[in-house]
Amino acid sequence: MKDRTLLMIPGPIEFEPAVLAALGAPTTSHVAANFIEVFGQALEMMRKVWLCPAGQPFIMAGSGTLAMDTAVVNLIEPGDKALVISTGYFGERYAELLKRYGAEVTVLGAPPGEVVDLDKIETELKKGSFKLMTFTHVDTSTAVLVDPRPMGKLGRKYGVLTVLDGVCSIAGEEMRQEEWGIDVAFTASQKAIGVPPGLALLVAGPAAMKTWKERKTPVSHYYGDWKNWLPIMEAYEARKPGYFGTPPVNHICALNVSLGQILTEGMEQRFSRHQRIGSAFRAAIGALGLKQVPTDPAHAASTLTAPYYPQGVTGQEFLPKVTAAGAILAGGLLPAIKAAYFRVGHMGAVKPGDILATVGAIETGLAGCGYEFEKGIGVAAAQKILLA
Ligand code: PMP
Repeated sequence: MKDRTLLMIPGPIEFEPAVLAALGAPTTSHVAANFIEVFGQALEMMRKVWLCPAGQPFIMAGSGTLAMDTAVVNLIEPGDKALVISTGYFGERYAELLKRYGAEVTVLGAPPGEVVDLDKIETELKKGSFKLMTFTHVDTSTAVLVDPRPMGKLGRKYGVLTVLDGVCSIAGEEMRQEEWGIDVAFTASQKAIGVPPGLALLVAGPAAMKTWKERKTPVSHYYGDWKNWLPIMEAYEARKPGYFGTPPVNHICALNVSLGQILTEGMEQRFSRHQRIGSAFRAAIGALGLKQVPTDPAHAASTLTAPYYPQGVTGQEFLPKVTAAGAILAGGLLPAIKAAYFRVGHMGAVKPGDILATVGAIETGLAGCGYEFEKGIGVAAAQKILLA
């Protein structure tokens, strides 16, 4: 594709040709033997990608917000207390969403680019009686990475279910759901999972399933109720047909291909590849003299980078120049700093060459905006890490 422009936003991303071919293949019946096999395999592979052998996977048609929705609506009953650890836009969304279902919500937030102090979280948990705690593994509005390990530990210590929003992390950032004591972890297809937008993907661990089974009131979301979907997931995994709502047949075929590719690469290799690509990209941005939203590289994501524009450069001027040079980037999202920064996604099928091309396009954009820098310094910084 000669005139292809790289899609380097934090989702949707560039997809593998075999995944797109599965999406475009003739649609079979949702109860045909071949599709039952594909659906069953996809569920089995999710446990391996989430590293949660005892988890219950759910595949539903919808976006990441539906996954956010079903993760908590099945666990929360009106009046339950929920703690939201917010590191950006999607944490704020979780607080709104939980209130809609009658939860009593406490939000612990951090200034843009920072994480919430663990002591602060523990102090809040000590006050007691929270039913669940949500956190955003990578907040796509800030590129801030939250370490799930201490969150899982705190959840276990205080008997609080932990819900990990992994929309911008799962299958990119290291995430070991079972070992780290995370009760629910979810994502959407369009990010590191590598399938065009359309699937909400969630794995619930045994404690979350037990809480759901023991609830006293009906789930106040008809479509999202696990009571409707659990028998379907169990049926397909047992290689039997099931019906509640027509499954997105082609999307699930594409998911099956992508999960297979992810497991062929191997989770350890995949985590380290994303780390290397993330460091290379951040090194390039640093070498170009641009600051980043995460205040400390120790909590900067590997799946995306959020650089501030240099003095005198605006997104309106810069982003179209980068697109013309071959890479589509995203503008800011967090309202407080929206006009001051941009975002670059680098996850899933992204190749080292895509990173170099994107850094090159950024250099072209910066030069076109009259920003002074040593030409090629960003590309060289990235290449040094990619080749290490
Ligand atoms: N959580 C995070 C961390 C996200 O990045 C996104 C999407 N960018 C969502 C939730 C919501 O997902 P969707 O847009 O697919 O509804």
